[in-house]
Amino acid sequence: MQVQRVVLNSRPGKNGAPVPENFRLEEITLAPDLKDGEVLVRTLYLSVDPYMRCRMNEDTGADYLTPWQISKCVDGGGVGLIDSSRCNNFAAGDVVISFNWPWQTHAVMTGSDLQKVDPQLVDGHLSYFLGAVGITGLTALLGIREKGHITKRANHTMVVSGAAGACGSIAGQIGRLDGCVRVVGICGSDEKCKAIVEDLGFSTAINYHLEDVPTRLKESCPDGIDVYFDNVGGAISDAVIAQMNNGSHIILCGQISQYNKDVPYPPPLSEETQKNLQSKNITRERFTVLNYMSKADAALCELSQWIKSGRIKVLETVVNGIENMGDAFCSMMKGGNIGKQIIKISH
Ligand code: NDP
Repeated sequence: MQVQRVVLNSRPGKNGAPVPENFRLEEITLAPDLKDGEVLVRTLYLSVDPYMRCRMNEDTGADYLTPWQISKCVDGGGVGLIDSSRCNNFAAGDVVISFNWPWQTHAVMTGSDLQKVDPQLVDGHLSYFLGAVGITGLTALLGIREKGHITKRANHTMVVSGAAGACGSIAGQIGRLDGCVRVVGICGSDEKCKAIVEDLGFSTAINYHLEDVPTRLKESCPDGIDVYFDNVGGAISDAVIAQMNNGSHIILCGQISQYNKDVPYPPPLSEETQKNLQSKNITRERFTVLNYMSKADAALCELSQWIKSGRIKVLETVVNGIENMGDAFCSMMKGGNIGKQIIKISH
């Protein structure tokens, strides 16, 4: 059987933005005879995610992430269908997900790398398993619950950076549902600002490319900031932290503004921001969703119910075709997506 796959063509270097030419499309012949324990899967949707930028480096800088190898098939989050199975846990037609799905139109995978999922959880929107009812939804929900300390009726103000992205768009809505009286989003275009306010119910949105972030934060957070869901780091986070209240909390989700630089994670803070954290007793503990997977099933049910009842809205940017994986990844890293960036591989 002829299949298409994407391999790593070159590395962008630790200090450099990724480009589509870092990836290469190939056609290979897949021998579909399965060994015991193996399944043949058809890929439906693939995910591109910011952590993949580390996997493009020879050394990822994180012990739980392996580097992608040159000329080898790239992998990440994926959802698909079992075509045929020699594994007792799976039968043809099952919908399955994996964190290590090869960027390949069909693939032979080991059953132990796959998890069967119930399409009813997402009302048939199978791509949601890669976003709102998958890792990014879990990151938003568990990040807030573990590190946010939101108290109902405490009139908390929450700020979310990267607010129109996969994690940010869900985090802001959860902040509102969990009782924040005000949720302010910071993101990179007027279209994104309009979407998060009009479609997702954020109180205010700030376009950091066009507006003065400190001034707009002062206007939109008159009582200061109690919870900050930080997806981006850098100058935006310095501006937010400067307006946080005593005893407030940062959910240190990600620092994407620093991912094309050769710095450790989390990147070092400026002296002034460090002083702000200490003098105002602001918590800023590292959060990694993979450390909370024992809570994933319950959290996924909660997300599913909120989405089915319409209390959480899901935004996605979907592109078609495995040949566009590299473009989609680079576009997401530069802000081309509203909501979760998804690549549809087959029907
Ligand atoms: P998004 O869907 O948010 O896509 C990335 C977004 O980042 C872009 O759309 C862009 O939006 C924004 N961005 C890119 N460069 C910059 C910059 N220099 N300054 C400000 N914003 C920038 O991705 P995810 O939701 O998947 O991930 C968001 C964050 O969450 C990342 O930092 C990621 O590493 C982290 N994460 C952490 C996890 C954990 O366990 N802690 C798990 C999953 C994700 P814009 O147009 O607004 O610039």
